[in-house]
Amino acid sequence: MADVWEALGGVKVIEIDSVVKPVRAFLLPQGGKYLLVDTGYADTVDQLIPIIEKHRISNIILTHLHTDHSGGAPILKAMKNTAILYHEDEFKSLKYALQAGEWLPRIFEEADVENFEKALDFLRRLPEPDAFVSDKSVIDGWKIMHTPGHTPGHVALTNGIVAITGDLILADDTSNVAYVPLKGYRPLSSYLRSIVATANLKVDLFLPSHGDVFRDVRQRVSEIFDHHYERLSQAAKALGKGLSSAREVAQQIKWSSGIFQKLSPLEKWLAILETISHLDFLVETGYAVTTSVLNYGISETADWNAVKSKLTLIADNLWSK
Ligand SMILES: [Zn+2]
Ligand SMILES: [Zn+2]
Repeated sequence: MADVWEALGGVKVIEIDSVVKPVRAFLLPQGGKYLLVDTGYADTVDQLIPIIEKHRISNIILTHLHTDHSGGAPILKAMKNTAILYHEDEFKSLKYALQAGEWLPRIFEEADVENFEKALDFLRRLPEPDAFVSDKSVIDGWKIMHTPGHTPGHVALTNGIVAITGDLILADDTSNVAYVPLKGYRPLSSYLRSIVATANLKVDLFLPSHGDVFRDVRQRVSEIFDHHYERLSQAAKALGKGLSSAREVAQQIKWSSGIFQKLSPLEKWLAILETISHLDFLVETGYAVTTSVLNYGISETADWNAVKSKLTLIADNLWSK
């Protein structure tokens, strides 16, 4: 059974053990029942069952669809006969990714993922939603915040005292900001706006899904801006050298788990998706242009100050460079 501890206001925090990466689920109290946030992996759901059995569950809400958060959802739904809720953009982006024709196979190829069908299988096995949640809606007394960037439909929840922040801001790791070819979606600027909105919440405690919990996230948000500023600089430098494909640019970025060539196929996949997010930000600010699918170049009117100004504007005084 997973460890459970009580945070402020009767929120129960469930610490799920996993060989891959420990993850949390949360029981949020409301009128004698509990809203369950996230479910761990499918193969760690046994740790949750004895705890969930003892609680009346109103709904299951998923911060996003990564397997460490959503894998156990179908089993717990069947057990408690409750609804699974998450944000519509999570559903749309995955359906879109599966139908995006050339784009997805190309990314897999660039990342050296060999078993393409097996990798797709993972996308096809996601929990079906019973209903979608939207920004500012209230579910069982908890306000939903749409916080896109780590994924397009990522959500956080708050009751004004505590915020459940999923994979948005982590103490000892930087969240992957993955590009998804969803119309109008700008992953890095969305992500940075989401972390600023979260840091501006007046709550007593932030509960992320992994790592240390926070009382104040402002310092960490400033560090995350530094981190993305560095990566934007590295991506711009790579374009300056005449490198143009997302893979070539990814090879020039300093990844926290090592040089690109040494990463596992999954890590390479995530690295390329994050590189595209940075390149997309450079396109958004007019510094770079898209030359063809997954290929980029420096624009004729490139101005690094435009990149900096955009970051400063989004940071809303939480970052200065
Ligand atoms: Zn995640
Ligand atoms: Zn996670």
